[in-house]
Amino acid sequence: MKHFQCVFYVAALFSLFGCNKVVTDDITFYTDFQGSKLTEVEKTGENQYNAYIAPAFEPVNKSPWFAFGISSKVVKEIELNLIYGKYKHRYIPKLSADKKLWKPIEKNRIHIDTAKGIAKLRLPVSNERLYVAAQEVESSEDTYLWIDELQIRHPKIKKVIAGKTVLKKNNYVLEVEDSSAVNAIVLITRQHPPEIPGGTIGFKAFYEALLSDSKVARTFRSKYNIYTFPLLNPDGADMGNWRHNANGKDLNRDWADFTQPETQMVANYLTDKTNKGKSIQFAIDFHTSYSGPYLLVLDSLNETKTSKLIPKWIHRIEKNSSFKVEARRRSQDLPYCYNYFFKTFNCEAVTYEEGDEIDRAIIKERAQVYAREFMATLINND
Ligand SMILES: [Zn+2]
Repeated sequence: MKHFQCVFYVAALFSLFGCNKVVTDDITFYTDFQGSKLTEVEKTGENQYNAYIAPAFEPVNKSPWFAFGISSKVVKEIELNLIYGKYKHRYIPKLSADKKLWKPIEKNRIHIDTAKGIAKLRLPVSNERLYVAAQEVESSEDTYLWIDELQIRHPKIKKVIAGKTVLKKNNYVLEVEDSSAVNAIVLITRQHPPEIPGGTIGFKAFYEALLSDSKVARTFRSKYNIYTFPLLNPDGADMGNWRHNANGKDLNRDWADFTQPETQMVANYLTDKTNKGKSIQFAIDFHTSYSGPYLLVLDSLNETKTSKLIPKWIHRIEKNSSFKVEARRRSQDLPYCYNYFFKTFNCEAVTYEEGDEIDRAIIKERAQVYAREFMATLINND
């Protein structure tokens, strides 16, 4: 007769609410960094765990953000289920040892159960921390560090406190001004915390292209002031929110009512600039969607009222690169950021959407091409 050795586990549930790590015998889960999100951990068997992910506020769209660290006393593999309650798995997990260099999990280490909406991961763990996140983690500290480094290379950038967040933290605008230039463009990003591909990676590449030493960039900066809100929702980004600011509001639905300090800050700042004689000609608001990349553009009727910079820009991109632009028209009645620009300043504006899992090198390349052709379009329109 054969003898089986049986080990029975009583499932143990650990909540991370109010604490920043849980220890389940030999495995430790961490949420001790800005942008982290993991609600509960359950040990379900030997080397088997469930990670429960819940949004901070509801209702919320399907953007189940997660970000946490794992370490183990011994080197081994564990099985980890990502479970989102009534929501479904969306983001391919990204792994990192240092929260700087991230790679999508290898295909043979993830199984997505589309019926249940969960993802089963096989993770190598050791006493060195492994970070697991929905997208690359970019906290407010990370963005501000990038700005500090940019300012060394580009001393013309002025980092100005434009207002406060819900949590009373400073919120910034970056000014690149030429005293002789009246015209201005505005860039806004990270209203929605998880939207790293467009909101951080694409945005940064676009902004750095505007600051480059190329002839078109130098000419552009002599004719256009650049006002940039590099992280409109720092509270939400640091809280690991799926969509909202610290009041549980979707900022990109607040551009008609202006109930939030973040949207009010932009409106006050730009009103002040226009009162001082600056003229806003174009605005771009950076986001990410599961079906991106695309641009949200003006509806057909409103497009006829403009000098058609948007179609000229798209034409230039397609003529001078291999990128094809998908332009989606939306009503200007929606309380989106780009509609605020169109209605308030009578200027053209787009929502710049990247895709969740687009290769990061392509995101950067696209942003550089779009920026180059954007500058050329505006210069040629003068
Ligand atoms: Zn968005």
